[in-house]
Amino acid sequence: MLIRFWGTRGSLPAPLNYRAVRAKIRAALIAALEHRLDDPEAVDRFIDGELPFSVRGTFGGNSSCVELACGDQFVLCDMGSGAREFGNALLARYGPARKHRFNIFMSHLHWDHIMGFPFFTPAFIPGNVIRIHGCHDSMREAFIRQQSDPCFPVDFRNLAATIEFVELKPDRSYDIDGLRVRPILQNHASDSYGYRFEQAGKTVVYSTDCEHKYEVLDQNYPFVDFFRNADVLIFDAMYSLADQISVKEDWGHSSNMVAVELAQLAGVKHLVMFHHEPIYDDAMIERILGETRRYNEISGDERGLVISSAYDGLEIAV
Ligand SMILES: [Zn+2]
Ligand SMILES: [Zn+2]
Repeated sequence: MLIRFWGTRGSLPAPLNYRAVRAKIRAALIAALEHRLDDPEAVDRFIDGELPFSVRGTFGGNSSCVELACGDQFVLCDMGSGAREFGNALLARYGPARKHRFNIFMSHLHWDHIMGFPFFTPAFIPGNVIRIHGCHDSMREAFIRQQSDPCFPVDFRNLAATIEFVELKPDRSYDIDGLRVRPILQNHASDSYGYRFEQAGKTVVYSTDCEHKYEVLDQNYPFVDFFRNADVLIFDAMYSLADQISVKEDWGHSSNMVAVELAQLAGVKHLVMFHHEPIYDDAMIERILGETRRYNEISGDERGLVISSAYDGLEIAV
């Protein structure tokens, strides 16, 4: 499997503004002063080898959308604004004549997780089949409502693709086009669901928009089993610990420290922090990533848990 992150920001898209771009250029040029950059290759080496990610890149502006590429299947988790870029990339690669089948898994129906669908080009193409899976019985209603007059010019019922809604039940395993899938109920306003995906001996867990409380973290906590031995755990680590335990308790999201505790308890191999707080800039997210790795080291992890912060464009081979 190959995991591609098309949207990693929480709550709403958060593009960089002019000042943020200028600050990155300025930081890069200042860092370049002491280097001899005589040719394009030297410039590339400098960018990739010398500049921190917060200067040479960005953690991304689109809201939640993650692709699991398994063979020639298209599997997507959530339809945040990143879905628009996924659809456009697919069209650029295959052209409009080639028809596709998509299996989409919805964590929940908050706006940041469905807002990309009206701009998801494959939905406008006849012959495409889009199956939207989830545990909320109000899925169809939510998708119809966001594309209703006067909010959007194209009614959901007029989309040309064949679109089906498939209701799943938590704690049951399903075989969906050769992919093993198990949903779990999560602690979030109006409920959300995480998904454990298994194929060919590999496991990826997508678990966003869930608040885990510190007092429940032990081997009996159901999520420890749900995350058990995952090759990759995509986890809602929206807040720093300081924010989570002060103002943002009960806001429905978790912190980077809870992410590490749970990943360690469950024997996860690679923890990917996801659904970044929109007020955090790239430097802040990079700092939290550094603190999280440090916390993992000092808390006695001996198995070498890998920790990343998701960004739009990140790809992880499993
Ligand atoms: Zn969200
Ligand atoms: Zn939410």
